[in-house]
Amino acid sequence: MVVKQVTVVGAGVMGRGIAYVFALAGFQTTLTDISEEQLNRAQQYVEETAEKGVAKGKVTEEQKAAIVHGLNVTTHLKDAVKQADLIVEAVPEKRELKQAVLEVADEYSPPHAVIASNTSTISPTELGSYTKRSNQTAVMHFFNPVPLMPLVEIVKGLETSQQTVDTIREVSEQIGKETVEVNEFPGFVTSRISALIGNEALHMLQEGVASAEDIDKAVRLGLNFPMGPLELADLVGLDARLNNLRYLHETLGEKYRPAPLLEKLVKAGRLGRKTKQGIYKYD
Ligand code: NAD
Repeated sequence: MVVKQVTVVGAGVMGRGIAYVFALAGFQTTLTDISEEQLNRAQQYVEETAEKGVAKGKVTEEQKAAIVHGLNVTTHLKDAVKQADLIVEAVPEKRELKQAVLEVADEYSPPHAVIASNTSTISPTELGSYTKRSNQTAVMHFFNPVPLMPLVEIVKGLETSQQTVDTIREVSEQIGKETVEVNEFPGFVTSRISALIGNEALHMLQEGVASAEDIDKAVRLGLNFPMGPLELADLVGLDARLNNLRYLHETLGEKYRPAPLLEKLVKAGRLGRKTKQGIYKYD
C-alpha cells in the first residue's frame, strides 16, 4: 500500500516528534490533539527543530518551509483521519483514552487505512479489538527524541496481517528509521529491558549504593550506554515509567515491582524533566 497522508493523534512529547519526521520526509501530515495549547507548542517545536536541522546542514531551507507551512493541525479528530492512509496514535498510555481514539479513527478513516499505536506497553491485539480492522492494526513504537532515535519497533497483534507490517516497515524506512519486528508480549523488547534497568538503578539509589550521578556515570562509561538509566527515567517521565512498571509487574511478575522510591517521587509530583524536577533538578 502506498502511504501519502499520515495523521498523528496526540501532540505531546512523542506525537510532535512523529509528526515532524513524517513532514520532513514529505508525507502530507496532520497533527491532532484535544488541546489547542499542545498544538501550538507542537508547531513551535516543529519550527525550532527544523531550524536546528538547517543550522546543522541536515535540513534545507526549502524542507524547513515545507514542514512549517505544510503541517496541518486541528482539534477535530474525525476530520483529521478522513483522508489518512496511516494513523499513528500517540495519546497518553491509558486504555480508555486509546480505545476512544481508535474507535473514532476506525469509524471515520478510509477502509484501507492502517491504524498504528505508539503505546509503550499495551497489547496490539487488545488495541486491534477496539476497531473493526484488527488485521490493519499494530504497534509502531518510536523512541524519544523521535527525530534522533533511529528505531521503530513494530509489534504484531494476533490478527495483524503481514501487509500491515510491510506497510509500517516501508514508511519507517522512508522516514529514515530502522525497524525490528516483535511478536506480542508485554513490554515488547525495548520497554521491558529499559523498565527493568531503570528500576534496578532506582533500587540502588534507594539502597545508597552510589549517588544518582555516579550510578549514571558508571553505566555510561563502564557499560557504554549513551545515557544513564536515571537521566533516561527523568527524560521518559517518572509517571510514565511507573505506569509501565505497574503494567509489567501485573503481567510478568515480581521482578518488575516498581521501586518504592519511584512511587514516592511520583507522589511528590517530581515527574522528571517535564516538571523540572525528578531524580535530578533542572533549570
Ligand atoms: P504526552 O502526555 O506528552 O502527550 C499526549 C498528548 O495526547 C497530549 O498532548 C494530550 O493533550 C493528547 N491527548 C489526550 N487525549 C487525547 C485525545 N482523546 N485525542 C487527541 N489527543 C489527546 O504523552 P507522550 O509521552 O507523548 O506519550 C504518548 C504515547 O507514546 C504513550 O502511549 C506513551 O506510552 C508512548 N511513548 C512515550 C515515550 C516517551 O518517552 N515519552 C516513548 C515511547 C512511547
